[in-house]
Amino acid sequence: MARDAVALTRALLRFDTVNPPGRERDCARHAGALLKDWGFRVEYHEYDERRTQVIARAGGTREEKPLCLTGHLDVVPLGARAWTRDPFSGEADGDRLYGRGSSDMKSGVAAMLLACKAFARKLQGTPGVVVVLTAGEEAGCIGSKHLAQTQLLGKAGAMVVGEPTSNYPFVGHKGSLKFHARFRGVSAHGSMPHLGVNAIYKAAKAIPRLESFEFGAQPHPVMGGPTLNVGTIEGGSSVNAVPDAASIGVDIRTVPGMSHEKVLSQLRTVLQDAELEVFSDLPPVWTEPEQEWVQRVFEICKPYVGEAPGARTAPYMTDAANLLKVYAGAPTVVLGPGETAMAHQTDEYCSMERIRQSVAIYEALIRDWCRA
Ligand SMILES: [Zn+2]
Repeated sequence: MARDAVALTRALLRFDTVNPPGRERDCARHAGALLKDWGFRVEYHEYDERRTQVIARAGGTREEKPLCLTGHLDVVPLGARAWTRDPFSGEADGDRLYGRGSSDMKSGVAAMLLACKAFARKLQGTPGVVVVLTAGEEAGCIGSKHLAQTQLLGKAGAMVVGEPTSNYPFVGHKGSLKFHARFRGVSAHGSMPHLGVNAIYKAAKAIPRLESFEFGAQPHPVMGGPTLNVGTIEGGSSVNAVPDAASIGVDIRTVPGMSHEKVLSQLRTVLQDAELEVFSDLPPVWTEPEQEWVQRVFEICKPYVGEAPGARTAPYMTDAANLLKVYAGAPTVVLGPGETAMAHQTDEYCSMERIRQSVAIYEALIRDWCRA
């Protein structure tokens, strides 16, 4: 049983939830069992074999919506470089706790769980808390996408995403639109290219048009402008044949105020007869920093970040983009103990001091929301 947030982080690190393949089930069941012991009403959702997600509630009234605390259970692969620490045992060195997921974001999940433990039995008759632990976040927020299509999430009046921010409250992040553009041609023998249509040439001509693509969007005062990157190119099967297929993979990051549909229609014009296959479509997340609850979050975090927090946004995507499809309009902050720069790194670690601080922060957020 976890005595404190560091011990609980270590317990979560021991579950191998490297995605792919994910296998979040055991980790999810462990977290769910703890929440159940503490008095939460726990439900599980599996969108695929062993891809388990947890939705747990305590308190709640008819009139007031609960505070949502959310985090993901999967972690990214270890990478090609060798680790000097065991990625799954939670080795400590000074203030550092090492392990895959120590920053991103099992520390955040552990701190949320322990904050919940402190309040579990005090939430009756208050707006309450809903804990959402997702699977499959690291491969395009797949788990939360499935969850948003169920009835399990219920309602939430505000949301905290425990991704790594060194306990600095971020008020949003860019959106993401990813697709493959597939170009078709006509194959012919490599010695008679005039008899074919070269799909690689089509793709190659499209790439400079993408490189100089103008979104025509207003830059966001905090996030700046949208970006576009061509990340992959594939085509042809043999050097002595005219290729009849080629495709490029495109990653677009959008800012609030942009319509993904409009971007796609602009791109269809630029890419002409290419077929666009969108595989990730997540809107930006943004809450006005002046929003009343956000101001209270800033006030709570102030002693831990050493200054009055300002409007900053996270460089990465989060499950909030999907969860807000259900929790529409809920003010949202990204706030967790992990180090942003440590996410996905070899020898990933987290400050143990920050993990303990984040328990205090999450407790203060629950106390504030539930007046408990
Ligand atoms: Zn993460």
